[in-house]
Amino acid sequence: NAKSKGSGDFCFYSAQLNERLHERMQLEFRLRRALEREEFFLEYQPILDGKTGRINAVEALLRWNDPEKGRVMPDSFIPLAEDTGVILPLGEWVLRTACAKVRQWQDAGVMPVRMAVNISGKQFTQGDLSKTVEEALQQSGVHPSWLELELTETCLIHNVEETVKKLFRLKGLNVSLAIDDFGTGYSSLQYLKNFPIDHLKIDRGFINKLCDLPDDRAIVDAIIGIAKAMDLHVIAEGVETRQQAEYLAGRGCDEFQGYYFYRPLSEEKLLEVLSSEAAAGAPPGEEASWLE
Ligand code: C2E
Ligand code: MG
Ligand code: MG
Ligand code: MG
Repeated sequence: NAKSKGSGDFCFYSAQLNERLHERMQLEFRLRRALEREEFFLEYQPILDGKTGRINAVEALLRWNDPEKGRVMPDSFIPLAEDTGVILPLGEWVLRTACAKVRQWQDAGVMPVRMAVNISGKQFTQGDLSKTVEEALQQSGVHPSWLELELTETCLIHNVEETVKKLFRLKGLNVSLAIDDFGTGYSSLQYLKNFPIDHLKIDRGFINKLCDLPDDRAIVDAIIGIAKAMDLHVIAEGVETRQQAEYLAGRGCDEFQGYYFYRPLSEEKLLEVLSSEAAAGAPPGEEASWLE
């Protein structure tokens, strides 16, 4: 009858919920353990100067070397790290490691590049981000102008007054601030005016079909136009073809990042690339000619 069926359903759902909860707790446990066991590592994707084609910066991208599953990409563990709060110690680890690497490379005489680090919304809203950043800079002795923080639009929308205060505190450390994935969140042009932002990274979703979709071209042109007018530096991410690069160079995009140039690289590979670039000597310097 209906009654016993109902309670059976209840048991079924509760078992399913239980299982999901269990899986989540498992993964949280494995993330915390991974942090202790130093199973996380960074890869570095070069960001090139739009005028000269030289490497100006690298973006640090987090990976997890899980002994059971092998290499795990951030999209499959960052959301849970955010939900469970693991992102706070993990994000701190990323900042400290990225700064330590910059220092190590500079000490070794490697061509200096800016280091861009991704910051999760939770780190921005819940953690004491400016303190963490200040400590990472102090401990490594890296000059703040080499560090860039990539914030997403979702970091910035919650409480505008609080956000402005936090951004100015970070800016006071003399690091650069970028908005990552620009155009995908709740893009507000208002905050470009009020927030002390240095760089805009155009989301790769718009770069993707740049050459086929007039609407995406219009969006990219508009973003570059606003950025130029407001004296912001624009970076295009996800550049995969020469055609896209040429289009963006023609529009005066300041920097490029994408598989067309480099994939995210291991530290070893990056150092090879940087040293061969340094050996190549002075950049050509001619506008956009490096793309030919
Ligand atoms: P993101 O910050 O937008 O980083 C760019 C992502 O696009 C990277 O994916 C990169 O490998 C990928 N990418 C770069 N060029 C191309 C291209 O030409 N084509 C395509 N299809 N993809 C390209 P990845 O490494 O899987 O990272 C995904 C996201 O995970 C990042 O997006 C970022 O939001 C997050 N993430 C990565 N590392 C960290 C971290 O240390 N902390 C936090 N909070 N988030 C991180
Ligand atoms: Mg990023
Ligand atoms: Mg991005
Ligand atoms: Mg992205």
